[in-house]
Amino acid sequence: MINKFIRKILGVKKSTGNKNPLVLGPKEHGIDPKLLSNNAIRVTQTLQDAGYKAFVVGGAVRDLLLGVKPKDFDIATNATPEQTKKLFRRAFIIGKRFQIVHVMFGQDLLEVTTFRGTTLADAPKDEHGRVLRDNTFGLQHEDAVRRDFTINAMYYDPATQTVLDYHGGIADIRKKILRIIGVPEERYREDPVRMLRVVRFAARLGFNIDDATSAPIEEMAPLINNVPSARVFDEMLKLLMSGQALACLMQLRKQGLHHGLLPLLDVVLKQPVATKFITLALASTDKRIHEGKPVSPGFLFAALLWHQVLEKWTAYQAAGEYAIPALHLAADAVLEAQTDKLALQRKIGSDMRDIWAMQPRFERRTGKTPYKLLEHLRFRAGYDFLLLRCEAGEIDAEIGRWWTDFAAGDADQREALLAAKPAAGGAKKRPARRGRNRSAASTATAASGDSNE
Ligand code: ATP
Ligand code: MG
Repeated sequence: MINKFIRKILGVKKSTGNKNPLVLGPKEHGIDPKLLSNNAIRVTQTLQDAGYKAFVVGGAVRDLLLGVKPKDFDIATNATPEQTKKLFRRAFIIGKRFQIVHVMFGQDLLEVTTFRGTTLADAPKDEHGRVLRDNTFGLQHEDAVRRDFTINAMYYDPATQTVLDYHGGIADIRKKILRIIGVPEERYREDPVRMLRVVRFAARLGFNIDDATSAPIEEMAPLINNVPSARVFDEMLKLLMSGQALACLMQLRKQGLHHGLLPLLDVVLKQPVATKFITLALASTDKRIHEGKPVSPGFLFAALLWHQVLEKWTAYQAAGEYAIPALHLAADAVLEAQTDKLALQRKIGSDMRDIWAMQPRFERRTGKTPYKLLEHLRFRAGYDFLLLRCEAGEIDAEIGRWWTDFAAGDADQREALLAAKPAAGGAKKRPARRGRNRSAASTATAASGDSNE
């Protein structure tokens, strides 16, 4: 009753789901069928041939309507996971609580989800109202109401080329508005990660956030603290890899969502060099993503947390620790502080450590050291990181140029570079080195895996 009253006041649509969707044909929705992947068509067709309903759903439909080639295709069906699995040669049921099916064609993975039901009132929740488990299957209109935003709740049938729109998604796409389905407060309480998703989609798509969708976020932001850190990490990673990382972080700050999420946003953005460094790092990440180049999460987080490492590095040295062990201690402290909130995966943590540990080694431009560094598995990432530091004015640009020449040079050119005395210092803001610890300098573990190039 009260909810109904509130909804009426807010002008929010009833959240039990509109049973009758708007149905749009090819002329009305204008989707270019060429943007659809053959595998998505294969999956929907196979399910439909077996007598089930099957649609491309969610982000893929949104992107198709925006004329963008979707990066992946999710499929929604009324077939159960068991029924779906039987229809494909390489299909795996994933997840314990709410099972979904991964259908593989070569490297291509499609996620097939059975329509979810709307019995959330009975679902187990934590003391803040966050839904802990929800594993009921339901009807298509119920599935639609469970989705987050109007623009993410549309279904496309490749066979008939029709779009089913249950919540005014088409109108919102045309108006470029991001609007949550249902009562915003309720939806954020059920799943606080939706607040981060608001930011990501608004920034990535360049959409305005509907007032009612945006209004409760600042006050409800602390609910993110109750979400398991692995999930927050996944969402942060999506945000940072969205190709609009910079815009996303600005939006996070605007919505008051940055507190405690990434401590660096609280503290570091107050320091001009750090702000410049992070801005450059994110801008270069966005650029790489737009150019279709890979980006390593380790590099990104190493950049985001670098100025905290610098601060602690200086402090440990001031307390009498040698430079290299001090750097390792600083890295430990920063990584440990993050695990609470972000649950950085081990591989990412070790990549970050490598990138940081390489930085003082770039300053030793004598003897065999530069040759050894060139062979480091993560050299490219460490070098890119060094260039960012130069660009941000944290260290002398000369050192970056020297390494660019050294990496590109032949044997003679390298010898000449080593013979020519590098300009003194190179590290304007590097903490004073009180001692040397050669062995520690070379203990940077060579983590396997992708470099930043
Ligand atoms: P992207 O292009 O970044 O993958 P997406 O919209 O496809 O965007 P996903 O995280 O892949 O985002 O989710 C797929 C779909 O599942 C969404 O479009 C939405 O319909 C639904 N969804 C995902 N997360 C939530 C959530 N937290 N609450 C409600 N619905 C969600
Ligand atoms: Mg998706």
